[in-house]
Amino acid sequence: MSDLIQLRPSRTAGAEAGSAASAPALRDVAGPPSRLAYVETYGCQMNVADTDMALGMLYRAGYGRTEDPARADLILLNTCAVREKAEERVFARVSILAEQKARPGVIVGITGCMAEHLKEKILERAPYVDLVIGPDGYRRLVEHVAQIQRDRRAEIVPKHRPGAGIKDTTLDRAETYEGLDAAPEMTDGITGHITIQRGCDKFCTFCVVPYTRGRERGTPPREVLRQARALAAAGHKQVQLLGQTVNSYWHEDVGFADLLRAVAAIDGLERIRFTSPYPLDFSNDVIAAIAASPKICKHVHLPLQSASDAVLGRMKRGYTYAQFCELVRALRAAIPDIAITTDLLVGFCDETEEEFQTILRAQRDLRFDAAFMFVYSEREGTAAARKMPDNVAEAVKQRRLGEIIALQHQITADIYRVQVGRRERVLIEGPSKRNGAEFFGRTDTFRAVVVPAGPGVAAGALVDVVIDRATNATLFGRVAPPE
Ligand code: SF4
Repeated sequence: MSDLIQLRPSRTAGAEAGSAASAPALRDVAGPPSRLAYVETYGCQMNVADTDMALGMLYRAGYGRTEDPARADLILLNTCAVREKAEERVFARVSILAEQKARPGVIVGITGCMAEHLKEKILERAPYVDLVIGPDGYRRLVEHVAQIQRDRRAEIVPKHRPGAGIKDTTLDRAETYEGLDAAPEMTDGITGHITIQRGCDKFCTFCVVPYTRGRERGTPPREVLRQARALAAAGHKQVQLLGQTVNSYWHEDVGFADLLRAVAAIDGLERIRFTSPYPLDFSNDVIAAIAASPKICKHVHLPLQSASDAVLGRMKRGYTYAQFCELVRALRAAIPDIAITTDLLVGFCDETEEEFQTILRAQRDLRFDAAFMFVYSEREGTAAARKMPDNVAEAVKQRRLGEIIALQHQITADIYRVQVGRRERVLIEGPSKRNGAEFFGRTDTFRAVVVPAGPGVAAGALVDVVIDRATNATLFGRVAPPE
């Protein structure tokens, strides 16, 4: 599923599942913005990138960003549909945020995969929602907001008329959002996201993504490079290339390895990350590109899901466990220090105890740096929901999840312990949330590192750190003396 590249809660450290229209003209926002937008982002890194893009469009239309919904004129929830629980959480959250509509002019919208998945059902269940936009409708966000404002002024649509919201959920096979950038003023200024591929053609039987994000299409290389250069020029040190199955990227005669090398050649960018690759499409050329470039990070998130060939077959993943192991072996042979993280899914339709045990064996054999771990939850519209029984009892699913989490914690802790005493280059992301006297950053291998505040330790700085101690999710270190 992290072909779905999810930012998910059960993570133990590191995470599957051309439009020619022009971008809105860049507008200088002199002085304080006239309106404020508040956005909550759920789900995957692609949603984070889409939020950045939407905020860029809003910035150019005169909006600023606020972290306080009580000050916002526009409230958006950019959502995920991979898990039912996530959708329920969004419904609960939007009902609270909609209380802000007591203030005149406030607009509340739901965007992203849940909008695409549920469409008008959102307006039926949450009639106070003004705007429902799927992943291919962001280009019209500002237009829709302006339309709602006009309708309200003209009293065509009174603000509380139930179910009167705008719905824009048509999938567009050509939309790659060419020309639409994030506004550096609205992001962290350190890591820029570039969506190089949208949609997915794999149709794994458990996954809703091909139905919510449509068919696979690649962003033209010139557009990817334009965005990467713009991010470097705005001071970003790191870019993350994003796609549902990012290494399946192909545009005319340009493949993923070519694109990686071209982005890595841009001056000013220090680190290139990508997520999430699809195991079957991982070519030797991509392995060679990672091995050859010091800028391409030595971390690969490789979603395994299950280690039983029978379960992988029912999931329609397209590879066997032996093929997956061969890929891990090739990566580690070419890049000895590489960190490999994964996704594991337990309790899929008909999963027997023996099939489940293969996952534990794979964890011991492959020793992933970290894993996102989930129980299967049936999603309406998928092949599994149509054709296979969701027949593993919830208690059994939870027990299996508990077992793989416990084992992964142990493996991650062992791997992290081995890092003590090493010297690592860390990209500082900002102050630690837990302790104001400390800063937080990541190694090239995506391991989290905490260092004390001090000279040279600042957001965006690349700092050499000696690791002093480790927990099972974090490394702690100090700035290294010069070599
Ligand atoms: S269909 Fe499969 S490959 Fe595509 S996003 Fe879903 S899990 Fe990933």
